[in-house]
Amino acid sequence: MDYIRAMTEKLHIVGGGMAGSEAAWQAAEKGVHVVLHEMRPKVKTFAHRTEMFGEMVCSNSFRSDDDEQNAVGLLHWEMRAADSLIMTSANTHRLPAGGALAVDRDPFAETITQKLKSHPNVEVSYEEVTELPDQGQWIFATGPLTSEALGAAIQKETGADRLAFFDAIAPIVYAESIDMSVAWMQSRYDKGETEEERKAYLNCPMTKDQYEAFIDALLAADKTEFHDGETAGYFDGCLPIEVMAERGRETLRHGPMKPVGLTNPHKPEEKAYAVVQLRRDNALGTLFNIVGFQTKMKYGAQTAVFKMIPGLEDAFFARLGGIHRNTFLNSPTLLDDQMRLKSKPNIRFAGQVTGVEGYVESASMGLLAGRMAAAEILGAELPVVPQDSAHGALIHHITGGAEAKTFQPMNVNFGLFRPVDGLKGGRRGRKDRYKAYTDRAKSVWSEWLSGQ
Ligand SMILES: Cc1cc2nc3c(=O)[nH]c(=O)nc-3n(C[C@H](O)[C@H](O)[C@H](O)COP(=O)(O)OP(=O)(O)OC[C@H]3O[C@@H](n4cnc5c(N)ncnc54)[C@H](O)[C@@H]3O)c2cc1C
Repeated sequence: MDYIRAMTEKLHIVGGGMAGSEAAWQAAEKGVHVVLHEMRPKVKTFAHRTEMFGEMVCSNSFRSDDDEQNAVGLLHWEMRAADSLIMTSANTHRLPAGGALAVDRDPFAETITQKLKSHPNVEVSYEEVTELPDQGQWIFATGPLTSEALGAAIQKETGADRLAFFDAIAPIVYAESIDMSVAWMQSRYDKGETEEERKAYLNCPMTKDQYEAFIDALLAADKTEFHDGETAGYFDGCLPIEVMAERGRETLRHGPMKPVGLTNPHKPEEKAYAVVQLRRDNALGTLFNIVGFQTKMKYGAQTAVFKMIPGLEDAFFARLGGIHRNTFLNSPTLLDDQMRLKSKPNIRFAGQVTGVEGYVESASMGLLAGRMAAAEILGAELPVVPQDSAHGALIHHITGGAEAKTFQPMNVNFGLFRPVDGLKGGRRGRKDRYKAYTDRAKSVWSEWLSGQ
């Protein structure tokens, strides 16, 4: 019976990038007939060069391969355990890169293309999809450069304010690494109905000298450039902080760093010259983003500059800031925990368009969407992805844990994981903590896979 259903109901996957390729592989391996729709080469993007599936558009690295001490390495491990096409192809075309997983990009994409095209359950259709169909099972994995026509169709369904075309990512700091003998919790003018709201922001004060030195560092820092074709319409309402600083040394003090309505309980007599505010980034309260600090400074420069902020001298960053052309949904409000569009549940989204960031994270969301859609077609929903796995931490974040109002793309990091009880906090306890997270994740992920 299941077999007959799988033979008759096709799964349509739109986009043959990291997520769509992985989703197609996972579903096809479960016995579901997949139609993979890819617009290249008919419609091009400014970043893709080839017509292959699984093309890496920029760097050739899948980042750290350390599955004990690194969250992305853990994601590799989980994907390998789930027979990931992206990971097996990466292993085949691995290049020496220390602890990182770097690959020879063209043979890597050729392997993915060849494996999908020769799979008996995969049919390929080279066409642009421009609508969200009412019928059939669909996964949209169209990535950060989703075509214009499809973007318009998605906005029609979700509302214009629920699909962004640029990200504006402020750096995110692990709460435990902030020096609370310097910083304090307070909302401006103590606004808010509840105590929690009145203490919603974390404040880092600056003296005049500290502010001037900070502005000098911002102005001098190395910046990244936009890729060709990436800039259209970017500056509306999300200026990088260094550009604000270029407009005048006082601009930030009258913008995101204004010191008004705040009293430092550590030094109540002293009026701060400027204040950097951080806001909770996840329901767990383990991550804080620096408000208004979207930036195009290079990563190395960001760490040096942001550690000049009093209270953040020893901060560790779950992610650094950036601004890119990036089409992504407000997933916390739009998607259910099976990655279905709540308003049209025959449609799933996967990959970067769901608000994860990076090759690996995108592929991992493809892996989940492919398995979920296949299970649905075969008449069985998958059990909920365990939250303590890396996949679970990510999907939980984008479909519920993240603050919907300020939602920005997220890469996998240990700040998304629920704490393990009884372990030492802070820098000293980090190694044991990360090992505990990864051990726990491997165990729950293996259990989840074995139940399928
Ligand atoms: C310029 C740039 C540089 C980047 N650099 C990096 C990096 O160095 N490292 C990193 O980890 N991540 C990087 N990223 C992010 C990267 O794009 C993602 O990590 C990853 O490729 C996303 O995978 P995906 O499958 O979601 O999207 P993609 O890999 O982009 O795949 C989406 C696919 O959908 C197709 N498509 C789009 N619209 C339609 C349509 N309407 N119909 C049919 N097909 C369609 C596209 O042609 C594409 O093949 C970069 C992104 C950009 C834009």
